[in-house]
Amino acid sequence: MELETKTIIIENNRCAWGKCIFCSFSKKRDIPVLGENRLNQLIENELKGITTLKQLKFFNSGSFLDANQIPVFVQDFVLKKCKELKTEELIFECHPMFITDKNIERIRKTLDSLNYNPKISVAIGLETADDRMLKKIKKGITLQSFEKAVGLLKKYNFYARTYLMANLPYEKDVEKSLDRSVDFALKHSEKICIINTYPYGYAELFDIWLSRKWHPLNKKDFENLTGKYKKNKKIEIYFDDFISYPKFSIAKQKKVDLYGANKFNLTHPYYEVWQEYLADFYLPPKIKNCILFLPCSFRKPYSMSKTHKAILERLKSVFGYEKIHQIMISNPGLIPREFESKYPFANYDWSEAQETPAIKKLYTKVTQERIEKYLENHRAHYAYTSKKPVFCYLKYESESYIALENACKKQNIALVNLLDKEAYDFLKKEGMRSILTNQILLDKMFLHIAKAKI
Ligand code: SF4
Repeated sequence: MELETKTIIIENNRCAWGKCIFCSFSKKRDIPVLGENRLNQLIENELKGITTLKQLKFFNSGSFLDANQIPVFVQDFVLKKCKELKTEELIFECHPMFITDKNIERIRKTLDSLNYNPKISVAIGLETADDRMLKKIKKGITLQSFEKAVGLLKKYNFYARTYLMANLPYEKDVEKSLDRSVDFALKHSEKICIINTYPYGYAELFDIWLSRKWHPLNKKDFENLTGKYKKNKKIEIYFDDFISYPKFSIAKQKKVDLYGANKFNLTHPYYEVWQEYLADFYLPPKIKNCILFLPCSFRKPYSMSKTHKAILERLKSVFGYEKIHQIMISNPGLIPREFESKYPFANYDWSEAQETPAIKKLYTKVTQERIEKYLENHRAHYAYTSKKPVFCYLKYESESYIALENACKKQNIALVNLLDKEAYDFLKKEGMRSILTNQILLDKMFLHIAKAKI
């Protein structure tokens, strides 16, 4: 198999610097420490079946030239593999503290001994061309040390691939700061990569996000900020590379009790960052082209509750079931089925008995806003319109339904409640309990969605 480009990500041992405020990997508790042979085996597996590879990107969350992370034996193995695959460019990352005469000269000598002269590009996370800011984000470099490292690379005919972060916290004018950084980096680098600053679970930046004082840029804002660089061939732009859902450390999980029907348990920052992620960064699974909003349940994860078990059992026989994206509506916001076990969605409780008129009103308002934002941002994915509806199976008088109905109206999206109104009203009048699991209603739900031909 011939390949243009391949990215290998192998994490091994902690980054020697380990202090950047946006870095999650270096703060993790358990970081793998692998032997040389195991590392080579992993690399071999990654390259299996490839006969020719034009470009190899090798990332290891730290420094390729730090022998504690990538032993010299393994560094050489990568170079040999590149030669075997006739690789024209090898890109690896490195903190300037390891870009030394000794380390670079050694790589150059190995390449000479192999009689192989690929383009070697060293990815350096400069992030910003501002010494004051570099100190604040604890990058462990200065513009001077960066320039020195780049000078050394040039000396050995290696190239600098400089990474910049757009929208760093503490920055008053993100545009001005990025422009200044791009100008500086262009003077010193063969390539620049602008990435959207995004907070990962163990990073200090995640706490800043939770404080609600700073937010990652959504796609539109990021494109507005970086659009002017799009045509520059020396610049690559990445909005959501390697982005993941919000992950909460055990310490953070222990810190709060998400119980009770109150404002705290409705607008808690843990929920807010999840909702921001879901609206602005999350990509719904490709196959899911139709939304079905469902209620939450006391038992978590929801699919273990009696109500959800009954709904799921009936729903699974719908033709095209796999296309239905089940999204629960609850006080944490919207919860797509695939995240129902993630913290805190299986670790909260909202007691209806504690609800007051004021909290119900607030719930409806907050929930409506969350639904609106989700529907608006994912319109292209689901392609719902005033004709192609979103579905729900919700009690008509519930705040979740009212919020959803209002949101759909505002977004001009059709809404079909699969809970048969006539049968529901009748059963309610009869004083029927556990109404959502009633067989008549579940059968009607099936018929209504089957008729809709999703
Ligand atoms: S240099 Fe890279 S791996 Fe090390 S702490 Fe900073 S971002 Fe993390």
